[in-house]
Amino acid sequence: MKTVMLKIDSDNIEQSKINQACEILKSGGLVAFPTETVYGLGGNALEPQAAGRIYAAKGRPSDNPLIVHIANEAMLEELVEEISEKAKLLSNHFWPGPLTMIFRKKRIIPNETTGGMDTVGIRMPSHPVALALIEQSGVAVAAPSANASGKPSPTRAKHVLEDLDGRIDMILDGDDAQIGLESTIVDTTCEPPVLLRPGFVTREMLEKVIGPVDVDPAVYEKVENGVKPKAPGMKYRHYAPKAELTLFRGDMEKVTRHINKKIEEDICQGRTPGVFVSQETRKQYEKGVVLCMGTRSDEETIAHCMYDVLREFDRLNVDVIYGEAFEQDNLGQAIMNRLIKAAGYKIVDIG
Ligand code: AMP
Ligand code: MG
Repeated sequence: MKTVMLKIDSDNIEQSKINQACEILKSGGLVAFPTETVYGLGGNALEPQAAGRIYAAKGRPSDNPLIVHIANEAMLEELVEEISEKAKLLSNHFWPGPLTMIFRKKRIIPNETTGGMDTVGIRMPSHPVALALIEQSGVAVAAPSANASGKPSPTRAKHVLEDLDGRIDMILDGDDAQIGLESTIVDTTCEPPVLLRPGFVTREMLEKVIGPVDVDPAVYEKVENGVKPKAPGMKYRHYAPKAELTLFRGDMEKVTRHINKKIEEDICQGRTPGVFVSQETRKQYEKGVVLCMGTRSDEETIAHCMYDVLREFDRLNVDVIYGEAFEQDNLGQAIMNRLIKAAGYKIVDIG
């Protein structure tokens, strides 16, 4: 299959390009498109075969449900059984935007789309290209991140091409994803609601609107073998570069010293080590492939750059990666959730 790459300007969207993409969606094909979180890989959410194509293109395990994207509230009512008062409050506050809510699904959504679950994750994105595509195709759009399963999520159209060239019909090549982290996921079918995946919308922001929100243990800890977390995707190694990644947490001076020692050892043994650092400690590293995520005082920039940096290590063919941990407050909750999973839970506390 040839993958058509179409440049699209989100400030001045050309209708003919949206039309082409809509035709593909309506005929069961797959279109990757920009959203404010990461690039999504879209297919008709009500067509089991389109869902099947998404799983095949990504190499995604079929028990990992797809998030369904909508362009207006009327679409929500067609798809879900019940909208709780808290879900209404959250949708008023955060939609369109980087929040996915879990609802009980209507039968119109096939089991293929939800990985066999009787609930469905729904999001109304705010990116103008995403909204135009969903609205004008007239279909709910199932769209997981447009990467090969397990790899870092795509924040630029070129990341999508790296992973899915020849496997999907079209890539709408818009700007780089503004946020750079996948949506926050909150389960609204239970009381209190449960945070299943942190994102740009933090637990504190949710709690300001609806009161207490629980956090699923799978957000930061490995689930036991055989246990299915509430968000099935959380059990897979995820967001990961090719080389093995280890995180180091603790006093920054000790952490930099420790990582530098590891770098020396690797070089002695003929390996190429990579390390991601913050601007604050950048100057303390002289050897190895050093990539900076940004300053610790600006978590939004760190979130925005993070996946591009992890992918850069793949391109530079490093053999092993070390990373400094970040604070786990505000947006740091989402940053650390992704990094801990990218590291396969290898996080070392330096005392
Ligand atoms: P992605 O589409 O790649 O951003 O991943 C979607 C995430 O949403 C995965 O971790 C899924 O397990 C989770 N998810 C999607 N639908 C549901 C659902 N109905 N219940 C719980 N988690 C869900
Ligand atoms: Mg994903």
